[in-house]
Amino acid sequence: MRVLVVEDEPRMAALIRQGLEEEAYAVDVVDNGRDVLLWVQSAEYDIVLLDIMLPGMNGLDVCRQLRAEGFNMPVLMLTARDTLPDKVKGLDSGADDYLVKPFAIEELTARMRALARRDSSDKRTVLSVADLTLDPATKLAQRGDQIIELTAKEYALLETLMRHPNQVLSRDQIIEHVWDMAFESGSKLIEVYIYALRKKIDAGHDVKLIQTARGLGYRIGDYETD
Ligand code: CA
Repeated sequence: MRVLVVEDEPRMAALIRQGLEEEAYAVDVVDNGRDVLLWVQSAEYDIVLLDIMLPGMNGLDVCRQLRAEGFNMPVLMLTARDTLPDKVKGLDSGADDYLVKPFAIEELTARMRALARRDSSDKRTVLSVADLTLDPATKLAQRGDQIIELTAKEYALLETLMRHPNQVLSRDQIIEHVWDMAFESGSKLIEVYIYALRKKIDAGHDVKLIQTARGLGYRIGDYETD
């Protein structure tokens, strides 16, 4: 999952980035309201975390602008304000949820998982394809009765594939959701992580779930179409 964090306070931004990266999110940070539109046009963000008090343009106006321009990703407002009128204003500007600072990173990520479910037609808390399951809360995969531990990036890659079962995702689509702006587009990282995932998910199983669609990208599914 790719997250845009809009936060002008460097320490708070660094704390959020660290907390979310530990939870396998790909994180980009922007420190003012005016540039948000440019960022969401340049990458496909799964969720935006939006501070209200920002230089350039405040979070309420940023949120209204995003919605007016047709961006439908979940927006979670992060703010020091906790009065009722501010909460109402935040939600009425088009935000989906509201979290008052200071907050625990565990509550932030739980709300982000809830927003991802709300954004999807699939409301199950655990993703599944054939005999493979993946739990976004624990980051553990399970194939049959075997529990599989994943690194943060392996988890992020598998989650992206499993949110689109039996669908080919191009390298670019995968990069958009798994890596942040620091990713070098020519790198072979995707191939490296696909290889690592195959060893953990498919080795020793007759049915190979992670499939390569030559020249197109990758797919996870339990049937061969080629
Ligand atoms: Ca602020």
